[in-house]
Amino acid sequence: MSAPTQSTPSNPDQFVIALDQGTTSSRAVLFDHKADIVDVSQLEFKQYFPKPGWVEHDANEIWDSQFSVLQRLVANNQLTPEDIAAVGITNQRETTVVWNRRTGKPVYNAIVWQDRRTAARCDEITELGWAERVQEKTGLVIDAYFSGTKIEWILNNVEGARDAAETGDLLFGTIDTWVIWNLTEGRVHATEPSNAARTMLMNINTGEWDKDLLELFNIPTSMLPEIKDSSDDFGHFSFQGKEVPIAGVAGDQQAALFGQTCFEKGMAKNTYGTGCFMLMNTGSQRINSECGLLSTIAWSIDGKITYALEGSVFIGGAAIQWLRDELKFIDDASESEALALKAHPDSRLVVVPAFAGLGAPHWDMYARGAIFGLTRDSGQAEITKATLESLAYQIYDVLHAMQKDSGINLSQLNVDGGAIANNFLAQFQADILQTPVVRPKVLESTALGAAYLAGLRVGYWTMKDLTKVREVEREFKPAMQPEIAERMIARWHKAVERSKEWVEADV
Ligand code: ADP
Repeated sequence: MSAPTQSTPSNPDQFVIALDQGTTSSRAVLFDHKADIVDVSQLEFKQYFPKPGWVEHDANEIWDSQFSVLQRLVANNQLTPEDIAAVGITNQRETTVVWNRRTGKPVYNAIVWQDRRTAARCDEITELGWAERVQEKTGLVIDAYFSGTKIEWILNNVEGARDAAETGDLLFGTIDTWVIWNLTEGRVHATEPSNAARTMLMNINTGEWDKDLLELFNIPTSMLPEIKDSSDDFGHFSFQGKEVPIAGVAGDQQAALFGQTCFEKGMAKNTYGTGCFMLMNTGSQRINSECGLLSTIAWSIDGKITYALEGSVFIGGAAIQWLRDELKFIDDASESEALALKAHPDSRLVVVPAFAGLGAPHWDMYARGAIFGLTRDSGQAEITKATLESLAYQIYDVLHAMQKDSGINLSQLNVDGGAIANNFLAQFQADILQTPVVRPKVLESTALGAAYLAGLRVGYWTMKDLTKVREVEREFKPAMQPEIAERMIARWHKAVERSKEWVEADV
């Protein structure tokens, strides 16, 4: 980890660019010194599904789309290198690329986090008795989701890959590393702890690659990127003959936690996207979950690691897509708010959106979706309202697991993501949690977090500036009687219990 460098001294008239490399699109976001968004450029890229359960991206398409949006942003805003204080990167996590260090060519498509091809291998490792050691070292449960078994699969299944890796010709990277390597034209092969923590190869207690796990998966150390701080010197990219520093990097969910300025222990954010991701800052101590949450690294600054607890809900905004695409109640997700408000006030419907089983803290992959409490007058409005409410109930369950694990009671929940634009949902969330829900002006917390990490490094912002520049758009205060909230939660839990173990293991 190196001392701060500045190619040009930053000044408030400059901008910071965040590169946000997501699962379906690449974006470049231009922020000014007030942390307001000046412009966004976005390109979608192709998803490949070669077999059931397999999900791939073309790593070159990832890079091309990411570089194109950067170029477009620069051109549209007539930016010169002097206008850009720094570039930050945030990315889809766990997705795995292996490439040749000489040619820069990937040896195989990027294997995406959703890909399940290594599930059987994960079962095998679990049966070999690794679960406890993996949890102790990495904070993770053994799962195909993480990068370790994906790298192993590439080395074992791509012709010549194993030999090339052993002679030191191949490099591995999560998407942050792949973008840095390309931006620096192959000069920098680096990552940082929030991404490295998701590979199942890093010991989160020490912040270093773990020898035992590398041996288990037979992965040569020479393939691995250097682990820097999240706010650090990741090299620069050349543009109009000048150098622009790459100075901040974090995985998408941790970047959102940082973008929401959850800098203190006990602060938490929830992102309401297709799925929902809740992270709580647990400070300099990792907390081991008793409720099936993950321990992970939030970020590392000045060599100091901050840990987090993470819980996810598989079906969040996706339930609203179901209302739109399958039930055809609405043409656009945003119409769900007005429709929910038309529901009969006495409706007691409960929707359990366990379309893909239930995650934390229920963990039942055989649960399936259900609607409870239907009466003759139940209609579109009632089902829509209950579906929106189901997002809030699921978050209630994750948050309670987090509070139980950490012993910390939340004073407010910071929210972001597409679905929380819905005021009905935001108010209901505050009511059910009996805790204020705070929605910031900039809902793009992920990009903002990457920009903050980069801006900090080059002296464009200080930590103090960041807490000051964060603007709240609206705070939703609990308005429901606690006894009513409790009754509704009890009804939700009754419904969850009845939706469990619905399908048989082999169906
Ligand atoms: P992702 O990053 O996962 O693609 P976004 O943060 O862009 O997700 O949010 C999109 C999700 O939010 C979609 O699933 C959509 O159905 C849902 N959504 C968007 N706007 C609303 C709204 N006003 N009310 C409810 N859900 C919404």
